[in-house]
Amino acid sequence: EETAPVDVNVLIEQALEFAAYSLRTTGVDITLRLADDLPVVYANEDQLVQTFTNLIVNAEQALRGTEGPRTLEITTAAVDDGEGVSITFADNGPGIPEEARSRIFEPLFTTKQAGVGTGLGLALCHRIIEGHGGSIELERTDRPGATFTIRLSRDGARS
Ligand code: ADP
Ligand code: MG
Repeated sequence: EETAPVDVNVLIEQALEFAAYSLRTTGVDITLRLADDLPVVYANEDQLVQTFTNLIVNAEQALRGTEGPRTLEITTAAVDDGEGVSITFADNGPGIPEEARSRIFEPLFTTKQAGVGTGLGLALCHRIIEGHGGSIELERTDRPGATFTIRLSRDGARS
């Protein structure tokens, strides 16, 4: 796979553009906290944009039909003394029940109606991030909703 130095903040903006129509339709309020000291990481740009778009669309779909403000916070940060980046997606939707936690990254696991969900999104995200030598996790937090964190090291996908 082709990798090149990428600015993760720019790829977040691209993913938000892909999802812009759905986000607007569902009325999702986006908060961006993008670090201004992010190191570039070696990565496949298309694969990362696809991963970020999947996470944003999952949040948007989880927020459809919920009451009150619908929020998605996306945060980037330098980690490991500038050797890597973390990217967090935190929504205030219904969250993921305990019994589903261990299965969400499995291919074909979905709680959505046939035709709406394929259950392939998070499996693909997981494969892409592993292919970059990184990690993707569903966090445990005190707040309602789902929080996913991706960690990438600068040279994790350098060939
Ligand atoms: P799909 O979106 O096609 O169902 P995914 O692999 O993207 O497949 O997600 C698998 C399942 O994980 C979803 O069906 C849903 O139950 C759960 N899920 C993923 N993201 C979220 C989220 N942000 N909030 C609540 N549930 C989620
Ligand atoms: Mg999905």
